[in-house]
Amino acid sequence: MDLTQRKKQLQDLRQEIALRVARTHKHLFEKDTAVSANFSEQAVDLANEDVVAALDEEGHRELDLIDKAQLRINEDVYGTCLSCGERILEQRLDALPFTPNCVICAEKAG
Ligand SMILES: [Zn+2]
Repeated sequence: MDLTQRKKQLQDLRQEIALRVARTHKHLFEKDTAVSANFSEQAVDLANEDVVAALDEEGHRELDLIDKAQLRINEDVYGTCLSCGERILEQRLDALPFTPNCVICAEKAG
């Protein structure tokens, strides 16, 4: 994949994640605050809340990573691991176009 395609891929992905984040935000901050009378229902609500909050957080993190990846394309350093300076494998970039690290450094970081 060349950089023009990669740019497009990142743009599409950014749009997709931004939409998802907009939806989770709506769910988190604009939902009806009525409390369920049934405790088990409430427990399910709370569990969903955690999942949605986690999705929201992850979405923001990914958007941030995409912004940085787009900057790296503009600065012509895209595809280079930020930790060790090695080239990131093409297959890894195909799956995670916004990753700032090679697989070895990503594994080290946990
Ligand atoms: Zn590395």
